[in-house]
Amino acid sequence: MKKGLLVIVSGPSGAGKGTVLKQVFEKYPNLKLSISVTTRDPRVGEVDGINYYFKTVEEYKEMLKKDEFLEHQEVYGNFYGTPKAKVFEQLDKGFDVVLEIDVKGALSVMQRYPEAISIFVSPQDRDTLASRLKGRGSERPEDLERRISEAAAEIQQANLYDYIVVNNDVTECAEDVISIVRAEKCSVKLNRKFIDSLTNGGK
Ligand code: 5GP
Repeated sequence: MKKGLLVIVSGPSGAGKGTVLKQVFEKYPNLKLSISVTTRDPRVGEVDGINYYFKTVEEYKEMLKKDEFLEHQEVYGNFYGTPKAKVFEQLDKGFDVVLEIDVKGALSVMQRYPEAISIFVSPQDRDTLASRLKGRGSERPEDLERRISEAAAEIQQANLYDYIVVNNDVTECAEDVISIVRAEKCSVKLNRKFIDSLTNGGK
C-alpha cells in the first residue's frame, strides 16, 4: 500500500484556517487531521478528542518525557504537541495527514521529514486579520493584542513554505488546498517506487 502524504498547514490565527480545513476534510475524506495535545483551556464549543486533547501541564510533560510527540512547541504561552503514533499509523494506512501547527513546529517537521509538504494559509490583508481575531471574541484583550502582533510576524515566515493560499473565499481556498495535495500525490518524486514496479516488476 502506498503511504500517505504528510501535509503541514500553518497560518496566523485569524486567517480562517479552521474553516478552510473543515471544508477540505468534508470534500477530501482521504485527508485526516492530526489532533494535537494542548495545555490551553478549551474555548466554548471545543470538545476534547475532537478539537484537541486537552491535558494538564503535568500530563503534557509526561508525554514529552516518553517521547510521544512528533514535534512540540510553546505557542502564546501554552504547550502544544503532535502525538506521533497516530500520525504514522494513518500514513501507513495510506491516509494523508494534516498537521495544523505553528511556524516553529512546521520548521522542525520540514527539517526532519523533507517529504512533507507545507502550505501557508494567509488572510487577504492585515485589516481582515485583525477584524477576524476581534470578531472571534474568544480571547482576553491582552491575549488578542499579543495574537495580532505575533500573527503579523508569522506572515513573514510564509517564505519558508512550499505553497501559500490566500483565504479570500473559503470554498476557493479549500479547493486550492485539495488541488495542491492531489498534484503532490502525482509528483514523480513520490512515485519512484511505483515507476520501478512498472518497469522492473514484470521481470
Ligand atoms: P489555538 O490555540 O488558536 O487553537 O492555536 C494556536 C496556535 O497553535 C496555532 O497557530 C496552531 O496552528 C498551533 N498549534 C496547534 N496545535 C499545535 C501542535 O501540535 N504543534 C504546534 N507546533 N503548534 C500547534
